[in-house]
Amino acid sequence: MATFKEFRNNIKPNWCPGCGDFSVQAAIQRAAANVGLEPESLAVISGIGCSGRISGYINAYGLHGIHGRALPIAQGVKLANRDLTVIASGGDGDGFAIGIGHTIHAIRRNINMTYIVMDNQIYGLTKGQTSPRSSEGFKTKSTPEGSIESTLSPLELAISAGATFVAQSFSSDLKQLTSLIEQGIQHEGFSLINVFSPCVTFNKVNTYDWFKEHITNLDTMPDYDPSNRTLAMTTLMDTGSMITGLIYQNKDKKCYEDLVHGFKPEPLVNQPLALSETEFDNL
Ligand code: SF4
Ligand code: MG
Repeated sequence: MATFKEFRNNIKPNWCPGCGDFSVQAAIQRAAANVGLEPESLAVISGIGCSGRISGYINAYGLHGIHGRALPIAQGVKLANRDLTVIASGGDGDGFAIGIGHTIHAIRRNINMTYIVMDNQIYGLTKGQTSPRSSEGFKTKSTPEGSIESTLSPLELAISAGATFVAQSFSSDLKQLTSLIEQGIQHEGFSLINVFSPCVTFNKVNTYDWFKEHITNLDTMPDYDPSNRTLAMTTLMDTGSMITGLIYQNKDKKCYEDLVHGFKPEPLVNQPLALSETEFDNL
């Protein structure tokens, strides 16, 4: 069985020292090992942004896609080979701005895969512009007088779109993050994990200390029941989505692959790519 070290490669990440994305990378590697995966049974598909580099830093199949398009690629990979564990990943700009249409439909489609968003509430790669996750009043080069747009609440959006697994974590809490990724991988359907992953270079407001001050861990709410959809929604609304842990899980809904009539359970990659002459003539 592979250890987490076997999910490492020899490429040194070029994230800024202190970037939250380092912990997300470590958590994926640990979770993959803890659930018994091998590098050849995992595919990590990412979009564009600082966080999008993550697919190159994990020893597994990987594809660094195009901006906002990690999910269509990842869903295609999963449908082509159901035996692969597929993780899509990217930033809040990638998944909640240009990619939001794909995100909503991937959620409601419920293909068995995991989507990890590194949410730093800013565009990091392009040197610090306001993202859909930035707070109202947030000042950057793109909103010098402060953002006047409402902040997107992706987890509320996910639950209303029919999500079957919604979780949130903080890159400083490696133990919780690793456990949630394990649960997300094991969930039979689409799992969304939003991770507060500070951008230490361009976001001087939503820092590690700021998150520590504002986050409530669901473990401190003993009566919280993640199978209760209404409770999940009201708790998100009441806390401004500043909660971490498993927020909502529906274990009853079947995943997309199990509902498609006649969908072949065996990986499509093992089937012949072209028809023989006789098969073609018999069409
Ligand atoms: Fe991380 Fe921000 Fe540096 Fe990008 S710019 S690597 S998000 S700290
Ligand atoms: Mg971002």
